Amino acid sequence: MQHFPIFLSVAGRRIVLSGGGEAAMAKLRLLLKTEARIAVYADAPHADIEKLGLEGKIILTRRALRRGDVLCAALFYAANEDDAEDARVAAIARAEGALVNIVDNLEDSAFITPAIVDRDPVTVAIGTEGAAPVLARAIKADLEERLPVTLGLLARVGKSFRHAVETLPLGRKRRDFWADYYFKAGPKAVEANGAKGASAALEALLDQHIMTAQKEGHVDLVGAGPGDPELLTLKARKALDEADVVIYDRLVSREILELARREALMINVGKEGFGPSTTQDEINRLIVEHAAQGAHVVRLKAGDPTVFGRLDEEIEAIEDAGISYRIVPGITAASAAVAQIGQSLTKRGRNASVRLLTGHDMKGFADHDWRALAKDGEVAAIYMGKRAARFVQGRLIMHGANPDTPITVVENASRPESRVLSTTLAELEPALSRSDLHGPAILLYGLAPRHAAEVLTSLDLKEAAQ
Ligand code: SAH
Repeated sequence: MQHFPIFLSVAGRRIVLSGGGEAAMAKLRLLLKTEARIAVYADAPHADIEKLGLEGKIILTRRALRRGDVLCAALFYAANEDDAEDARVAAIARAEGALVNIVDNLEDSAFITPAIVDRDPVTVAIGTEGAAPVLARAIKADLEERLPVTLGLLARVGKSFRHAVETLPLGRKRRDFWADYYFKAGPKAVEANGAKGASAALEALLDQHIMTAQKEGHVDLVGAGPGDPELLTLKARKALDEADVVIYDRLVSREILELARREALMINVGKEGFGPSTTQDEINRLIVEHAAQGAHVVRLKAGDPTVFGRLDEEIEAIEDAGISYRIVPGITAASAAVAQIGQSLTKRGRNASVRLLTGHDMKGFADHDWRALAKDGEVAAIYMGKRAARFVQGRLIMHGANPDTPITVVENASRPESRVLSTTLAELEPALSRSDLHGPAILLYGLAPRHAAEVLTSLDLKEAAQ
């Protein structure tokens, strides 16, 4: 940086300009924005400059600049559009202690005048060290467009309010208030009612922000369970009862959504295994945005939020925003499914561990330790496994699993419309495709229904197909 930007105090001080043509007039237009005393020396001033002199806006002397004319000046501009004359007057000005600028002569100037976006008292100065005036102009045009014309007025009104705003906690809350005032509520109010509008808007806005600031936002990451509303925890019910905003997934049942507070804003982020859905980033953004505004957000997820729920990504976003949160566990699909077929996830003498697997992950079909799973007596609950069934079947058989290993597919576990398909590893496909199960389904590997009645079997499907 060859030039260091500063804002120079010029109110009441002298600024001297030598020259009476176009270049002088262009500089005067800028200088007249200041509260400086402006003295112009020109032997043949342009009519516009004469006019400024007559109006008393500048002190005009109708002769060339002489020694002694620049005494006590803060700044000096040489704008004669004549190199020799500019050099002569610049030498006088330097000798008399002023900072010198020669128009269109960067090399001999002690300072340069930036492109200015004027929203007094807000001033944006843009400089390119003379390298790219076009760029400076483009940036200026962009800012002129972006900064409301009323910004100056808003800033003056805002300044008188700084004290009152201290009731808002320092940091984000205060910043949000000012952003709201300068870019939303303020410009609107000034447009409608001028400066008075701005003060009134500030007062109303402050009240509003104080109220929301007192109300701290919070996020509950709640498990909605498998679908039966009676399988909700009491904590989940209470959270739904108090929610301002409920952000829910596709798999959360309608009956459960109906339990949310009537005034709550309901946002469907319809995440599906394969189909179109709101992106995780967008979901994170929604959660944080609402909680940051002081809302009690319930992020409602099917089953248990800690099982294949991308919970950690949401927690990270919430923590990054400095918002408080709580996890309310729910009944996961595997628990509901085994309950429905009268089995246990673990059983003495059969399996001392149980795996929760996903049929597919971000990369496609998910790989697992198939060899370990292929051993007798192993039990696994396979989530999102319908489409991956043929893949899972192939892998397990390849790794030596007994083709007669029972597999039970439970669709819509815990819901009235639930269906159960009882099959074996060997017959999983095409039985599953034939069964035409549309709802969410979980594959229970290594488990058969305790009572075979009332469940679909591979055999039924074979008969139906014939
Ligand atoms: N967090 C959820 C799982 C989300 S992954 C939970 O703990 O249950 C979505 C998968 O869960 C679905 O593809 C399906 O395999 C399973 N699932 C969710 N609800 C289900 C239900 N009621 N019945 C059967 N499977 C269900």
